[in-house]
Amino acid sequence: MQLTLEYARLLDAQDPLAKFREEFVIEDADTIYMDGNSLGRLPKRTIARVREIVEKEWGKRLVRGWGEGWYVAPQHLGGKIAQLIGARSDEVLVADSTSVNFYKLVNAALDAREGKNQIVTETVNFPTDAYILQGIARARGKTITYVAPQNDVAIITDAIVHAIEKNNCALVTLTHTAFKSGAVYDMRALTQAAHDAGALVLWDLSHSVGSIPIELNACDADLAVGCTYKYLNGGPGAPAFLYVRRDLQEQLSNPIQGWFGQKNQFAMDSDYAPAQGVARFHVGTPPMLSLLAIEAGVDILLEAGMENLRAKSIQQTELLTALWEAWLQPFGVTLNSPRDANLRGSHVSLGHPDGLRIDRALIEELNVIPDFRFPDNIRFGIAPLYTRFEDVYCAMERMRRVMEEKLYEKFPSERPVVT
Ligand SMILES: *Cc1c(COP(=O)(O)O)cnc(C)c1O
Repeated sequence: MQLTLEYARLLDAQDPLAKFREEFVIEDADTIYMDGNSLGRLPKRTIARVREIVEKEWGKRLVRGWGEGWYVAPQHLGGKIAQLIGARSDEVLVADSTSVNFYKLVNAALDAREGKNQIVTETVNFPTDAYILQGIARARGKTITYVAPQNDVAIITDAIVHAIEKNNCALVTLTHTAFKSGAVYDMRALTQAAHDAGALVLWDLSHSVGSIPIELNACDADLAVGCTYKYLNGGPGAPAFLYVRRDLQEQLSNPIQGWFGQKNQFAMDSDYAPAQGVARFHVGTPPMLSLLAIEAGVDILLEAGMENLRAKSIQQTELLTALWEAWLQPFGVTLNSPRDANLRGSHVSLGHPDGLRIDRALIEELNVIPDFRFPDNIRFGIAPLYTRFEDVYCAMERMRRVMEEKLYEKFPSERPVVT
């Protein structure tokens, strides 16, 4: 690999996925957007689709819209997302937020393993998952065992397996690609270990879906949740998805018994009876404008193909880490992601004690948009549908300038409200 702009441009010229960048709104060519793992870009098709939804479906068809596609949209779209995560089309539902779906599936799993009292998770889990687990554990009298990766980065599968075996484990729940480090868990081995101990597994796919291939069925995974506004490019706050393996659907119950999860919903019965299949994990009326706006982004991913996207993502994170090593490591910048591409997802975290100020200098002085996660991680998200090799090269070149010229020194180290 050569660390020159010409070489990065050559890789772009040879990239079979390069044409997909045209699918997205990219207004300012000088801004390098490296935060597609937090909020994906706007697909051009979505603009036309949202206009149609608002003007035609809502504006003209009014309440008839429910019978003309809206009612079945959460499962129809779930069927498409299923293709991205190695699931069957009737195992995925779009509904609520990731947090709410996580709450529903944790409770459903614990109900199904009533006699067992341990939940095994990780110290580096996404905060919402940890908070929800803590609330549920308190309400239900369960104990949480946290396993820590080495240096917050290197996942030790054996340590998690050990915690699962040692405890009277009801549920194992992990974020498949860790949000800070980008480290990826071994879904197959850990699911197997959980099953051997009689536990269920719930995977949070928020940082994996649309960035790396996932094989839920092949790994025999029980449950999963994930975001649509990150690598799926579904739009800010777009509803999330949940997955329940087919044979578990009739065994598990939704702890929030809303009318959208009711059998024969429009019979308006006074007593609750769960709907058939994955639909029982609905709660209330879905946010239809945001939900329908997700589909175009999912279609683009399906057209590009997850295997192709993964191959490009690995090439790009390899370029980024090679540039880090050559240019940034000498300034004391650390690699807070796995060095081995097979063990990381599609974002790379770089660490420095002045990380927050470096992040601000990148954004405000040099038009590079990564994001920052405390205490010291600057995250560079690579979305291979629209990130170019040239972007990776220039982002690292600009960060080198920030370090060389100490451009961060003029920024305060106070924490802003949103990072
Ligand atoms: C982004 C993310 C979430 C977000 O949950 P919301 O309910 O959409 O706010 C949850 N879990 C993980 C692992 C995430 O990366």
